[in-house]
Amino acid sequence: MKKLNSIRELHPCFGAKNNRGRMHLPVCPGCNIFCRFCERSINKDEDRPGVAAKVITPEAACEYVERALKFCPDITVVGIAGPGDTLATDNAIKTFKLIGEKFPALLKCMSTNGLLLKERLPDILDVGIDTLTVTVNAIDPYIEAQLNDGIIYHGKRIMGEAGAEILINNQLAGIQAAAETGMTIKVNTVLVNEINRFHIKDIAKAVSERGAAIYNIIPLIPQHKLRDLSVPGCIDIETVRHEAGKYIDVFRHCQHCRADAVGVPGKNNFSRQVYLGELQSR
Ligand code: SF4
Ligand code: SF4
Repeated sequence: MKKLNSIRELHPCFGAKNNRGRMHLPVCPGCNIFCRFCERSINKDEDRPGVAAKVITPEAACEYVERALKFCPDITVVGIAGPGDTLATDNAIKTFKLIGEKFPALLKCMSTNGLLLKERLPDILDVGIDTLTVTVNAIDPYIEAQLNDGIIYHGKRIMGEAGAEILINNQLAGIQAAAETGMTIKVNTVLVNEINRFHIKDIAKAVSERGAAIYNIIPLIPQHKLRDLSVPGCIDIETVRHEAGKYIDVFRHCQHCRADAVGVPGKNNFSRQVYLGELQSR
């Protein structure tokens, strides 16, 4: 497991500058929670999280990494961030194992909603994940239930605040347990002005106390059941970043990438070439 200083030099989403690239492997189509703003999609046009040109198998992943390194030798990180959740199936863990054996120099970065983080931590450590991102949108079940309809937990569907409470407890316990192993953890929060705007500082404080190192606030893309809500503006985002910054280091350069992004964030994207075999860069 790499330490925060070397991660800050190598990972574009943990502070690295100088053209560091990352590649997302879309190996996880399904999810175990029901975020009310989530619209997963398979297409090659939309530039947002939850979208990939296709879903690939863990066994095919190494081939795509080889292809991506030809288009973008600056890639230092292989990440799995959807389109669904990385722990809802075994696909992500299997993929990281194969990638670790073939490309030991690449950082392994995983994003999860955290529902199963604590119970899958032994597997996560076993495959040597270097950086972990956990999305925490509220630490109050009443607020979380407005953002998320429910969860599927150990085969049971648990809706409303009851599900939200389990999710929040598991997220915070998972962050703490992972941080205690020395893992570098970033927390993402989707900012929804009408729902969690005045709650962001509480989330930042709680996750910092559990050992998270970096905080990333992502403005809502209004879609699915929250399609009628507003897009947070620059002033909203700056205000909550300032509030959160009292408790934790705030990351300000997130590009809200696709689940199959390939390249240097904000500079280039070779998803179509790598996953669809197209020739032109975007
Ligand atoms: Fe969608 Fe991610 Fe929420 Fe799952 S955790 S429903 S993939 S936004
Ligand atoms: Fe980095 Fe944000 Fe893109 Fe994730 S979505 S790879 S944090 S820039």
